[in-house]
Amino acid sequence: MTAGSFRVDVFTIFPEYVEKPLSLSLVGRACAAGIVDLRVHDPRDWTGDAHRTVDDAPFGGGPGMVMAPEPLFAAVEAVRPARPLLLCSASGSRFDQTWARELAAGEGFSLLCGRYEGVDQRVADHLCDGEVSIGDYVLAGGEAAALVIVEAVTRLVPGVMGNEASAAEESFAGDGLLEYPQYTRPAEFRGWAVPDVLRSGDHGRIARWRRAAALARTMQRRPDLLRGRTLHPADRALLEEFRAELPEAVPDEFSGEAPPG
Ligand code: SAH
Repeated sequence: MTAGSFRVDVFTIFPEYVEKPLSLSLVGRACAAGIVDLRVHDPRDWTGDAHRTVDDAPFGGGPGMVMAPEPLFAAVEAVRPARPLLLCSASGSRFDQTWARELAAGEGFSLLCGRYEGVDQRVADHLCDGEVSIGDYVLAGGEAAALVIVEAVTRLVPGVMGNEASAAEESFAGDGLLEYPQYTRPAEFRGWAVPDVLRSGDHGRIARWRRAAALARTMQRRPDLLRGRTLHPADRALLEEFRAELPEAVPDEFSGEAPPG
């Protein structure tokens, strides 16, 4: 255990599913550096029978099996994981960047992964602090959701990303816009050129172009992110200024709906 590190506990009957991916790249390095203290627990270690049974048939009938409460309660009570403890569930509240930021601002959090047809409701009601879904589709287990959530949260934990500024500029950050398009060398690839403005060295103009490109992209692809917001006159001016130089078209009806500056 590392004092002061961001603690994450994951409960899963497939520990390898979670451990290997999270030992790689950014999260792996954050764990190795002691910034993140990730612990994976197998509820089967808290079963009492030879078969290490964690599931049973559903009351009321129906297909499949349900994860039983005893091993999950025993595991959580023994481990005393970081809170909040969230149950991965297709019926949970939708995970998003705002939730990721909230969790990253705390001292840690934990996830409980279901399998089979799901988890006895008393686990959600009396053991966990909430239920989280990563989207409107059904996985075979909570592990893939745990990977998504742990990665999205821990990269925001202070000290995890090398360049802290990158978190402030990317999609959904601060102003809720999608990120502007990024380019690297070569300046021309198979006849496709990088926008001239990015090679101009004029940093004020580059910043304005990026803002305009982010606005146009968000309007084009995700107008839902802008609903109820009013286009700031300065943003309107940016869209006019760069209209001909943006990789994405500015929708004609942009006049009413967009974020304030
Ligand atoms: N019968 C359930 C699905 C069970 S899937 C239903 O209809 O909702 C088995 C496990 O996968 C769940 O217990 C949950 O932990 C996980 N899971 C499935 N879809 C998920 C999602 N969209 N987000 C998070 N976890 C999910």
